[in-house]
Amino acid sequence: MANLLEQLLTLATAGTVMISSALTAAAPHNDINGLLYLQNRQWRSGAAYIPELREADVKGKVREMRDDAAAALEQMAADCKAETGFHLVSVSGYRSYQTQATIYQRKVKNVGSQKRADEYVARAGASEHQLGLAMDLGWEYKEKGKLRLYSGTSNKFPNSAAGAWATENCWKYGFILRYQEGWEDVTGYKAEEWHFRYVGRENAEKIYANQMPLETYLILLRQEVLMDIVLGAEKE
Ligand SMILES: [Zn+2]
Repeated sequence: MANLLEQLLTLATAGTVMISSALTAAAPHNDINGLLYLQNRQWRSGAAYIPELREADVKGKVREMRDDAAAALEQMAADCKAETGFHLVSVSGYRSYQTQATIYQRKVKNVGSQKRADEYVARAGASEHQLGLAMDLGWEYKEKGKLRLYSGTSNKFPNSAAGAWATENCWKYGFILRYQEGWEDVTGYKAEEWHFRYVGRENAEKIYANQMPLETYLILLRQEVLMDIVLGAEKE
């Protein structure tokens, strides 16, 4: 990486590349309206950000998402129903900064300290739900011959018919399973089998194929973009 930056600097000094546009291109995690914006415990956005939202046409509650994410979720839910016979259920999509602050404060009150609350709940500005690109999913199941909706969050999600299908197929619709076991040190969150993040089909396919957290993908993507700029400039 150091080598790559040196090459970039050399090219910039020679006037071959604009260092500022190269760095912008290599930093999709900074573009709050983009699909790869990074929001986690280290990278927090302020109260001011409110995306354009609409209600996804799926079963469940709190169905607001950004339009591209909502459309992808609708397709995923429809295909899940067609292939498994069960609905995916929206549990929690968009959450405002203020809602997240309220949830966090309630958790602090319940567990007695911020340190313990941090283990379970994101602080305001640290949750992807504020971006309108995240959805917590529940599932539909059959009980005594009747179809029922489970509309909470649970690690049993992947054991349900709809959940197993979504876990396996979400990338085809541009979603990634954002927090997985073994990734806690990178993502800062415990595994959440129900939390899906929309990143677009192309990114989701690569992330799924490589089984890596979004944070790691963003670092590799940055290197790839910078490398392309260097190689492209050297060819000219
Ligand atoms: Zn979530």
